Amino acid sequence: MYPIILSFILILMTTDTATATQFTVRELPYAYDALAPQVSEETLRFHHDKHYKGYVDKLNELLVDSPYAGRTLEEIIISSDGPLFNNAAQAWNHEFYFDQLAPTPQTHPTGALKEAIDRDFGSVDELKAQMNKAATTLFGSGWVWLAEDKSGNLAIVSEQNAGNPLRRGMKPLLCLDVWEHAYYIDYRNRRADAVAALWDNIDWKKVEERYN
Ligand code: MN
Repeated sequence: MYPIILSFILILMTTDTATATQFTVRELPYAYDALAPQVSEETLRFHHDKHYKGYVDKLNELLVDSPYAGRTLEEIIISSDGPLFNNAAQAWNHEFYFDQLAPTPQTHPTGALKEAIDRDFGSVDELKAQMNKAATTLFGSGWVWLAEDKSGNLAIVSEQNAGNPLRRGMKPLLCLDVWEHAYYIDYRNRRADAVAALWDNIDWKKVEERYN
């Protein structure tokens, strides 16, 4: 009798732990085929449903019985290392990436953001050129960011793997995903073409909201 009750309690505990997922996969704010031809439906399905979801699922798995359970994603990114950091940052980075894209975006920055870009890069075209160059010269997998430092200056930050400027005390404004999974279906090895095309889907309204 006693072992049966114990087994029942253990099953309940296991079930409870397995369903205690802290973070949920965010749906795309547009249809899977909405960013074509720059980003195909197939790429978005793999990128969102397999890669991004995979990071969120793994993060939830790693948080079970972790001292980081219950902390915000940003807190985990700033203070953790190893697999927990990698999956937390990749979850955050992808939500930030998908959220800044739109089928009919605001095609240019305006107002205070435009002024800051002109001040720190000369022009929006020059900013894009420098980010494109950073994306094509980043060795291996990673992210190229436009971020604001504590003094209010804008800078381009290249990060390997899951790297995020939050770790440097900077505020991320815009990011380019240069992992091969972001472009290989549509562009094969042509990372430069993939990045150049993505600018057509960057919603500067969203970037302005992040800056202001
Ligand atoms: Mn990605």
